[in-house]
Amino acid sequence: MLKLKNYIDGELVEPASKMYIDNYQPATGAVFSKIPNSDEKDVQQAVAAAEVAFQTWSITPKDERARVLNKIADLIEQNADKLAQAESQDNGKPLKLAQKVDIPRARDNFRFFATGIMHFASESHAMENTAVNYTLRKPLGTVGCISPWNLPLYLFTWKIAPALAAGNCVVAKPSEVTPVTAYLLSELCIEAGLPKGVLNIVHGLGGSAGSAIVNHPDVKAISFTGGTQTGKAIARAAAPEFKKLSLELGGKNPNIIFADCDFELAVKTSVMSSFANQGQICLCGSRIFVERSIYEKFKTEFVSRVNNMVVSHPDDPKANLGAVVSKPHKEKILSYIDLAREEGGTILTGGEEVVLEGDYKNGYYIRPTVIEGLDYACRTNQEEIFGPVVTLTPFDSEEEVLKMANSTDYGLAATVWTENLKRAHRIARDLESGIIWINCWLLRDLRTPFGGMKSSGVGREGGFEALKFFTEPKNVCIMY
Ligand code: NAD
Repeated sequence: MLKLKNYIDGELVEPASKMYIDNYQPATGAVFSKIPNSDEKDVQQAVAAAEVAFQTWSITPKDERARVLNKIADLIEQNADKLAQAESQDNGKPLKLAQKVDIPRARDNFRFFATGIMHFASESHAMENTAVNYTLRKPLGTVGCISPWNLPLYLFTWKIAPALAAGNCVVAKPSEVTPVTAYLLSELCIEAGLPKGVLNIVHGLGGSAGSAIVNHPDVKAISFTGGTQTGKAIARAAAPEFKKLSLELGGKNPNIIFADCDFELAVKTSVMSSFANQGQICLCGSRIFVERSIYEKFKTEFVSRVNNMVVSHPDDPKANLGAVVSKPHKEKILSYIDLAREEGGTILTGGEEVVLEGDYKNGYYIRPTVIEGLDYACRTNQEEIFGPVVTLTPFDSEEEVLKMANSTDYGLAATVWTENLKRAHRIARDLESGIIWINCWLLRDLRTPFGGMKSSGVGREGGFEALKFFTEPKNVCIMY
């Protein structure tokens, strides 16, 4: 059985406690690997290694840093099949999705920030006849990167790559639910010749390994993606130390469909935005609002396509949905479907577990579920479910749909479907969301600011925003 190791000071090492946690394969429900159950001791070693490495890495010319990061990207590409297999096995997502989305994006994250750092310039502000100001940007030191299970290597590298490119050293923790590709990445970093201590990967639970990273006095910043409750705990722990924080948290994204939309494109994309990765993408739309004049038409077409979706094991090329990530998560999703029934919702399709045969009979499968007839303010429509469950709600006016769309505590992403240009701009202006897609979904330009408002987070990732986060600006004013 695969036994993962921590990556500390350039070496693959056992956890100090010698204790391991079981890692389950969602497709079968069986334990398939063991993860280090790291604690404060491992984090202390990792931070100590990072602090030493920082003395050199922070003054390594940026083109050399870029060269090493590009080498890691090359190795991700060369090992893409192995990484995609591991991601799919660990997370339950269809193999073809890991091949098409997760692993290429992990490679691109390294490439993007390897080149990004070469173009990152600091600011200068001239004061007519008096003085000139210029801004120095220095890396912060040792930073912590903590990531979730839904897009494991994709989100892990989205944090690590800009932190390293900017000259920081990193202590990172992947989700204990999906740690395997982070472990494989540590092997690739060794092969790429990343100097020891520059990146350290500590595996383990959030409450022990994760909080030890957040609480370590030498860790200057935390870049975190995960649930809103965890984000709050991290913010509480980090605030007294004035650590820089980037928090990418939960969502309850609206998908707004006007009668004048490109109907075929809106239906097709809404099926994807509802159920891609089993609905476990923070950007998935989970509340679909449809203008009343096309509500019945949209519902009929949407439900009929969802009915045709195949739920199967991740290696099945026909699978549209694989397994959800864990047994507790499966139970949480099913409990929300029960709640929707109690709140008066009608299940139009799905609403139940799928039991596959043979090796997969104990896997965690849920039929894609569409619910209607719920009040926009009920718990099903307000709380994040993070699974293959969406609700349909009719609306009569822009004013009404904006009120419903903006009614949750979250503000991560939204999609708007209309051919009316003025309306598209109006709605984009008034939606309380950090990311708005008009007539598309998940179209990503890595230069754009990425993140949410309200309880969906603090700060923005992506492009120069990320490089700014991972550097400390210092203004120098020189009088003429
Ligand atoms: P989670 O908050 O349970 O865990 C995320 C990470 O935090 C894990 O590595 C975990 O071990 C660690 N952690 C847990 N407690 C900790 C603590 N006290 N201190 C430090 N680290 C701790 O989230 P999850 O269940 O892995 O992921 C699902 C959530 O992530 C959903 O809410 C989803 O919306 C969100 N998400 C957000 C984005 C975004 O960009 N906004 C992207 C993906 C996922």
